Amino acid sequence: MEEKRKYCGEFAKLGVCRECGTVYAAEIFCGKEWCNVCREKMESRRFGRLYPKVYRMNGGFGFFVFTIPEHMRPYFLEKGNLSKLRTFLRRKLKRIYLDLRAIARWHFFDTEENLYKYHPHLNIMVDALEYINPNDLCRLKQDYKRFLERETGQKIATKTNPQGKVDVFYRFYSVKRIKEEFEKLQSGKKKQSKFLKDKYIKEIRKSLQVGWSLDDACNEQYLKIRAHKLKYITRATFLIYQKQIGEKLKGFRNCSIWGKFEKLKLEEKEKIDSEIKKEFKGDVRGLIVSRGQCPFCRGRIKWAKGKGRSGLVDSGICRGGEDLGGGIWVVAFGSRDSPVREKLIINEKEVVEDKRYHSLLYESAMNDNKWKERVDIYG
Ligand SMILES: [Zn+2]
Ligand SMILES: [Zn+2]
Repeated sequence: MEEKRKYCGEFAKLGVCRECGTVYAAEIFCGKEWCNVCREKMESRRFGRLYPKVYRMNGGFGFFVFTIPEHMRPYFLEKGNLSKLRTFLRRKLKRIYLDLRAIARWHFFDTEENLYKYHPHLNIMVDALEYINPNDLCRLKQDYKRFLERETGQKIATKTNPQGKVDVFYRFYSVKRIKEEFEKLQSGKKKQSKFLKDKYIKEIRKSLQVGWSLDDACNEQYLKIRAHKLKYITRATFLIYQKQIGEKLKGFRNCSIWGKFEKLKLEEKEKIDSEIKKEFKGDVRGLIVSRGQCPFCRGRIKWAKGKGRSGLVDSGICRGGEDLGGGIWVVAFGSRDSPVREKLIINEKEVVEDKRYHSLLYESAMNDNKWKERVDIYG
């Protein structure tokens, strides 16, 4: 039954809003970081999916990057070893942050340095209210060093790094910290800031000039920094395919979410959407759909099983639809009594598990004329 994909985005899946009945199609991508077809769309979907998590980091967040020394990198070409290290760090962080909530994602290359040289580093964004205790940070680095040496059977110290230092980057951001830093710069107590870039300082000054309070101006920049960090960690870094590395990492689940994140209330969803809009100049509705929400009524989207041809090249389910960005399309506007909705949902909660309904859905979506009739029904 399963048809093999000839090109990325050849197939799409259908979903329907449980509330308003709007029907969506999402192109199915290969998700490979070096794929020119889906890379950017996947990046924006990832951002859309993870933004509600960083939204919860409203008091402040810590940002870590754990880099692996060059001579140990071959060992971390194994997926299992990458996972092991990630699990180890989660356990250690849990000792510091008792209710650990974090997003962790690997970058496989340093895109600013060399697109060919394997350079795995783990980025972690942690929900935190204050700067890490220096003793905790020191111990974390020691633990990390010990882990690397024990696992690989190699010493960290080399000719170029005789003291055997591990590369752990850490930074903390909160509105309060931004405000304090800004005040130090304003009063001349500090000439330069390591963590608050010039562009943010300029923005704060601009906001103050047009009458904003310092708190509001700093909060605005905090939100920006938070979104930028998420954008940074969700971006692809494996940009040029290398068979040896690609084969090894095949199927590796790169992104982890640790801890419990409360369900979002309606007003929070709306706030999240407006924050995302500030970060993305284009259409953000696709991003909203990618986290399972209807951008029109904020109902939950139920995705149907199976897949159909997307029809971007020939005929298929996306054709004639409206592009919402991120490879997501509206293919039929909703009404509460849409036949598609009825097919997928019975009694509001129960979902039809019968495969026949799903294939019927795809069949009708595939057939242009019938599908158009359906659109007419929705009015
Ligand atoms: Zn809806
Ligand atoms: Zn692709």
